[in-house]
Amino acid sequence: MRNFREVTASEIRDNLLNLKHITFEVTDACNLKCKYCGYGDMYYGYDKRESKYLPVNKAKLIIDYLNDLWQSDNTNIDRPRTNIAFYGGEPLLNVPFIKEVISYVEQLGADRNFVFSMTTNAMLLHRYMDYLVEKNFNLLISLDGDRRGQSYRVTKSGENSFDTVIRNVKALQKKYPEYFKDHVNFNSVLHNRNSVESTYTFIKKTFDKSPAISELNNSEIREDKKEEFERTYKNKMESLRSSENYEKLSEDLFVKDPQTRELLLFLRLYSGNVFTDYNEFLMDESKTEYTVTGTCIPFSKKMFITVNGKILQCERIDHVFSLGHISDDKVFLDPEEVARRFNSLTAKMRSRCKSCKRRDSCNQCIYYIPDINGSNPQCNGYMDEEDFKRYSSYCMGYLAQHPELYKKLMTEVKMD
Ligand code: SF4
Ligand code: SF4
Repeated sequence: MRNFREVTASEIRDNLLNLKHITFEVTDACNLKCKYCGYGDMYYGYDKRESKYLPVNKAKLIIDYLNDLWQSDNTNIDRPRTNIAFYGGEPLLNVPFIKEVISYVEQLGADRNFVFSMTTNAMLLHRYMDYLVEKNFNLLISLDGDRRGQSYRVTKSGENSFDTVIRNVKALQKKYPEYFKDHVNFNSVLHNRNSVESTYTFIKKTFDKSPAISELNNSEIREDKKEEFERTYKNKMESLRSSENYEKLSEDLFVKDPQTRELLLFLRLYSGNVFTDYNEFLMDESKTEYTVTGTCIPFSKKMFITVNGKILQCERIDHVFSLGHISDDKVFLDPEEVARRFNSLTAKMRSRCKSCKRRDSCNQCIYYIPDINGSNPQCNGYMDEEDFKRYSSYCMGYLAQHPELYKKLMTEVKMD
């Protein structure tokens, strides 16, 4: 039987040393007022939005903190790559911050490659596109498809943002076609006014791009907004299945499909013939250890800095789970303390996870487990023997019915 292990401070330090991705919440202000916004009045769990701007000195303090680490130790990688991402609110409302951070990073002299990225609603793209192109930004543009699909993404005066967004994105495509091809992608939120098919078809036809399609966040919904949420929410798999061109669409969206990830995980863990490296191949599996839940180890994937200077594992989690913070003149981020906080949270799930049959392939983030900060957390993904049999036979059956997917998964898809 595999043993449970705790996360150590030295692991946290290693993750900081090799940090691949840091995201700054540049501002919590936005020039749109999307009806379903994850920071809007439909949800609990986020710091109140007060049109704040992250002070540039806080960004410099965390960069210095990381750079001191980078200078003090060697990573195993030659010129590691760190992605610096700008997030909002709408990050283009605070371009002076972005420019100052980038020029600060460029003059650090760190032996790393820095790449820049941004998620934007494209309302101000026409003003800043030259700079974004000059710095080779990877852009993720939020667009929910055609005019009707985009109709929840409204200006403060309630106007659909569709015309402005399309005009700006087309201007970018026209002026910088090569950049557009290589560095621009779309993210669409699914809801009751669009579908996987309508969104995909519109963006493919208009920009020759295949969008990432995400569902509305369904955790931490305010009690009085549950009805509105139910009305607005649409399930991605159901929407995909009801498409007229289901086969073609699922083929095109295959790699971005959440089900692909699920099947890949299943194959990797249970087929007995997929190994990440030789060590895994040679190792006695019963002697390997696991950490509770499917949560990433802090800072192994990324770090997120909120507009209030809180330090989190990523931008998708409740701000109460900060692991450190940045004051006006200092970074408070201690690997010992980070490991302690993470371990004390996962300890709450230890006995439940021990008996869960999904344990080896768990992809449940702890920060999304209902009441995880309280005394009685309940994981909805828990599987007993019977649940697990059902889950396995579903995955096996699906792969048996779609041998072409099996082949594709085994030969073309890489898991990060
Ligand atoms: S959602 Fe959870 S598991 Fe995913 S990156 Fe964020 S902290 Fe890690
Ligand atoms: S699914 Fe839930 S109960 Fe099962 S191992 Fe994952 S976190 Fe634990």
